[in-house]
Amino acid sequence: MLADLNCKSHRRRIVALLVPMSLASGLAAGQSHPGLDSRLADIGETGRFVPNKALAMLQKIAPQARAADTAIKAEFINQLCLATNKVGRRPEALALAEELIAFGKQKHDNVALAKGLMAKGYVLSSMQEAKAAHQFAWEGEKLANTTGDMALRISATITAGNAFAEEGNFPQALNRLQDAAALARQYAHPIQTVMALNALASLYTTMKQYDRGFDALAEALPAAVLTNSPGRIASLKTTEYGLAIETKQPKRALKALLEGLALERQIGADSMIGTTLVNLSDNYLREHDYGNTLIYANQAIAAALPLHAASTEATARINIGQAYLGMGRLLDGKRSFEAGLAVYEKMGDKPELQAVMMEYGLALERAGDMAGALEAYHRERKLSNELYETQRQKAVFELAGKYEADKKQRQIELLSRENQVKSAEIDNRRLQQRVWWLLAVVFAMASVMVGILYRKVRRANAQLKVKNLELKQQSSRDPLTSLYNRRHFQEFMRTRVAVEQRGLAATEDIVGALFLLDVDHFKHVNDTYGHAAGDVVLTMISENLREILRETDMIVRWGGEEFLAFLPAIPRSGVEEVARRLLAGISSNTIDYHGSKISVDVSIGFAQFPLSPGEHPLPWERAVNLVDMALYMAKGHGRNRAYGVRGFHNFDCTSMERIEQDLESAWRDGFVDLSVVLGTLPEAPATAEVADIANPADLAELATTA
Ligand code: GH3
Ligand code: MG
Ligand code: MG
Repeated sequence: MLADLNCKSHRRRIVALLVPMSLASGLAAGQSHPGLDSRLADIGETGRFVPNKALAMLQKIAPQARAADTAIKAEFINQLCLATNKVGRRPEALALAEELIAFGKQKHDNVALAKGLMAKGYVLSSMQEAKAAHQFAWEGEKLANTTGDMALRISATITAGNAFAEEGNFPQALNRLQDAAALARQYAHPIQTVMALNALASLYTTMKQYDRGFDALAEALPAAVLTNSPGRIASLKTTEYGLAIETKQPKRALKALLEGLALERQIGADSMIGTTLVNLSDNYLREHDYGNTLIYANQAIAAALPLHAASTEATARINIGQAYLGMGRLLDGKRSFEAGLAVYEKMGDKPELQAVMMEYGLALERAGDMAGALEAYHRERKLSNELYETQRQKAVFELAGKYEADKKQRQIELLSRENQVKSAEIDNRRLQQRVWWLLAVVFAMASVMVGILYRKVRRANAQLKVKNLELKQQSSRDPLTSLYNRRHFQEFMRTRVAVEQRGLAATEDIVGALFLLDVDHFKHVNDTYGHAAGDVVLTMISENLREILRETDMIVRWGGEEFLAFLPAIPRSGVEEVARRLLAGISSNTIDYHGSKISVDVSIGFAQFPLSPGEHPLPWERAVNLVDMALYMAKGHGRNRAYGVRGFHNFDCTSMERIEQDLESAWRDGFVDLSVVLGTLPEAPATAEVADIANPADLAELATTA
């Protein structure tokens, strides 16, 4: 810890202090309270050296100053804080510094805030809190440099420089103090110039650059005279004393001290007087002038006691002790030494205590009190050990703290790394979940699509089935009448023959039968009523056929106006009856076509099926051919009648080919047995006759009866 550079006792450190600077000269405002700013400037200078007086003056202007504008109020609190600190009321001073900081923040006023920060630095320095004090000093400097208040900026730079000097950072300290001096000269601030040069001279003394120290002092003195401030000059005298001692100029040292004392007495700067008196006693002690040593040391004690300046008192008592020991007054010397040691003890200043104890031992040794000297050395050793122990403990404590802090830091880093890993894992899991969800959605959509497609395919298949069925039906049906067509019948007969060959042939009494029908004079219907009317007639006939025949009977549209009916199972005796029903059923129907009544007859050829002229039954195609020939005969013999092939006679004397060539001849020759069913004449009763016609003569006869 560096000594109060301006108030330093050469021989001993008295109080370690940053030097408060007078800041009031930079006040810009004051119009609202004319004179207040200059009053504050005066009080600032007074407070620097005579704080009690300054406090009384501040008390007087307090109501006005507190009600004044920001600048005045801030400077007022600043002065109050510094003076309060100077008289040793630390907590009160600290509270005032805090008030100023809060005020600066509230007003967003950097001048006020910078002053507050520096004021707190001074108070902390007085409380031996050097490290914290320096931080506040540098922070204050930084903030002060943002303002346009030049006096404040120079003062803050000096304070920052002193803080660096106290830290032992001489290059930075020198840098700051030289800057401050240059600025002060440039802006012609005499008080700031003196402060900067004084601080610089002290720094040079510490750095053992005595010539530069004297140069700075030589420049400072005339400037101090200009300020018309005895306190400032006295401060410079103290610095000169230090330089003179270091350069072994006792006379100059004494002269400086005495001149300083006179000036301090002139303004009543009590704390400075105490320090100067101690320095004087020191100076005389060095010269072995014990008489003057005692005189000034006692005066120093008298000055220090009312001010509670413990350090001054302690140093003075040690000096008295030294003087007595030097005079051979062992007991008085020891008593005074012990008193001085007690003050240090009370202050808790163990390093100083240890240093003084060493001096004590040496002095006792010189005085011939070997036992006393030994005891002092023992005490010194004990103190040294205690100091070492506390320092060691402090170091261990600091190390432990650092270790804990490092450990905590490592744990925090570990935790944060763990957190990163965890959050990465969570992200990963979230991503995976998203992928799964996506897959699930894709799968679900695909399933739905497949389902839809499957149903579509199924529906298409069903439709295809229906369409196929329809197609099949269409290919087997006649579009006009919806009856089976010829192709279907052919197909049917092929499979039916296969069934019969499997032994389902007709029995004796139940036979199959084929009927081939052809509309009589159909061309005439077309020609008379039009083709459409012909179509209607054909449709009507097909419906008649469905009504007349059974569902199990197959009705086929054989050609244009020709129909074929295949009855799979009827009694042998009922075949002609069916022919008769067909003739009567069709001709009895009349349709009303656009007001015209149309009715038609049909001619029919028929036979039972299968037909077996010899050993074997005829194939169905040949059977149909025979029926067609019978139909032809029906047409030829008058129409509206049915000719049926009933059987064959004397088949050994003919052949099927011959019969097929000319059915009529075969019938005339008696090889074929035909039955004839006559249709009803329009005016005749609705019955049909069936006749066995054995020969052509019967036929002619039949024709005439009809
Ligand atoms: P018939 O059989 O009594 O000897 O005399 P026809 O007038 O019926 O003579 P033919 O058998 O030679 O004539 C059949 C006529 O039937 C010829 C043709 O124009 C007509 N026809 C054939 N198919 C259809 C059809 O689908 N619709 C209509 N309206 N007429 C048809
Ligand atoms: Mg025809
Ligand atoms: Mg016809």
